[in-house]
Amino acid sequence: MSNIYNKMLDFAKQNIAPYTDNVDIDAKFPIDSFEAIKKNKLTGLVVPKEYGGMGFGLEEHTQTVLAFASSCATTGLCYMMHNVATMCIVAYGSEEMKNEYLPKISSGDLLLALAFSETGTGTHFYNPEITVINSDNKLFMNGRKSFVTSALYADYYLVLSNSFEVEGLDSWLVHKDLSGVTFEESSWNGLGMRGNASMPMIFDNVDIDISNRVGTAGSGAEQVFNVVAPFFVIGLSAVYTGVALNACNTIIDYSMSRKYSDESALCNIPTVQNHIADIYTNATSAKHFTLAAAKSGANGDADALAQIISARLNASDMAVSVCNKAMKIGGGTAYAKRITIERLLRDAYAAQVMAPSTDVLSIWLGKALTNQPIP
Ligand SMILES: Cc1cc2nc3c(=O)[nH]c(=O)nc-3n(C[C@H](O)[C@H](O)[C@H](O)COP(=O)(O)OP(=O)(O)OC[C@H]3O[C@@H](n4cnc5c(N)ncnc54)[C@H](O)[C@@H]3O)c2cc1C
Repeated sequence: MSNIYNKMLDFAKQNIAPYTDNVDIDAKFPIDSFEAIKKNKLTGLVVPKEYGGMGFGLEEHTQTVLAFASSCATTGLCYMMHNVATMCIVAYGSEEMKNEYLPKISSGDLLLALAFSETGTGTHFYNPEITVINSDNKLFMNGRKSFVTSALYADYYLVLSNSFEVEGLDSWLVHKDLSGVTFEESSWNGLGMRGNASMPMIFDNVDIDISNRVGTAGSGAEQVFNVVAPFFVIGLSAVYTGVALNACNTIIDYSMSRKYSDESALCNIPTVQNHIADIYTNATSAKHFTLAAAKSGANGDADALAQIISARLNASDMAVSVCNKAMKIGGGTAYAKRITIERLLRDAYAAQVMAPSTDVLSIWLGKALTNQPIP
C-alpha cells in the first residue's frame, strides 16, 4: 500500500477546490476538475500497471476519494463511481474487454459511471427490473434507471440488468451515444451534491453487443458483492468524511477570524471551544475509521465488510452532526451562506439516502454480526 492521501489533498486544493462554489451555485457537473483528473491520468488509479494504470487498490481509492471530497463532495462522488465501474472491468472483464477499455481509462480518454438504481426497487439497487432480451440473436435492453450520477458526462455506464441467459444478474458497459439511450436532462435539482448530474437514463430497445457484458452470464450479483460492496460503500464513507473534514476546517478558521468590537474572537468563547472539540473529534474519528476499514478490506480481514459498512454508517452520521454544529457556531453568517457550511450540510444529507441507505445498511450490519444472511 502507498500513502497518497497528502499528495491527493494537494492535487485537490489546486485543481478541484477553485471550482467547488460554482459547481454548487450553477448545479453544473465539475468539468474543470475532471479535466485535471483526466490530464493527470487519475482516471487510471485502480487500473493495473500492465494496462497503463497506476495499479492501486482499495486503500488508495479511499484516500483519493477522501482527499477530493474534502474539497468538493460532488467531484469525490463522481470520481468514486468511476473507480467502482473500472474495478468491475478489472476484476470481471474478459482479456479482450480489458485490452479495449483499460488503456483508454488510464489515459483519461474514458470516464465511467454507475447506472444501478431504479424507481421500482429504489434503494435496493441490486434488484433491477431492467430487461435484456434475445431476439433473433440480437440483444435489446429496455428499462429506466432513476438516478445516474455523471449522466451525459461519463462515456460508459455500468448497467445492472436481469440476465437474458440464466437466473441472475448481468452487468453491461453501455455507451451514452448508443441508439435508444436517452437522459431525462435537467431533472437534477438536488438539495446538495448539486453538480452531480444524477438524472434518469432510459433504454429504449438499445441494441447491445454481448462483448459489452462485463463477466460471465449471471455474474452481476457476484460483482455487486465482491467489487461494488467494498469499493462503493467505503467510497461513500470517504465522500462524507471529506464533507465532515471540510466543515471542521472551515468552522475552525471562521471561529478564529470572526472578531467582536472588543477584539475577542468567536473561538475565545468556551461553548464554542466545546463545539469545536466535538466537531474535530467527530470528523477525525470518521477519517481514521474510514482509512482503517479500507485497510481491513485490502487485507481481506474476516470482518472487513462489517468494518466498511460500519465506517460508512459512522461517516454519514458524523457528516450531518459536524455540519449541524458548525452551522450553530457559524451563526447568522453561516445561515446567510457567507461561509460554506450550509452547502456542506446540504451535501451531507445525501449520505443517509444513497443506496444502500443507512437504514438498510444498519439492518445488514446487525444481521452480519449475528451470523444471519444478508442480500
Ligand atoms: C446524490 C445522489 C446520487 C446518486 N447517484 C446514483 C448513481 O450514480 N447510480 C445509481 O444507480 N443510483 C444513484 N443514486 C440513487 C441512490 O443510490 C438510491 O437508489 C436512491 O436515492 C433511492 O431513492 P428512493 O427514493 O427510490 O428510495 P426508497 O427506496 O424509496 O427508500 C426511501 C427510504 O426508505 C427507507 N427504506 C427503504 N427500504 C428499506 C428497508 N428494506 N429497510 C429499511 N429502510 C428502508 C430508507 O430510509 C430509504 O432511504 C443517487 C442518489 C443520490 C441522492
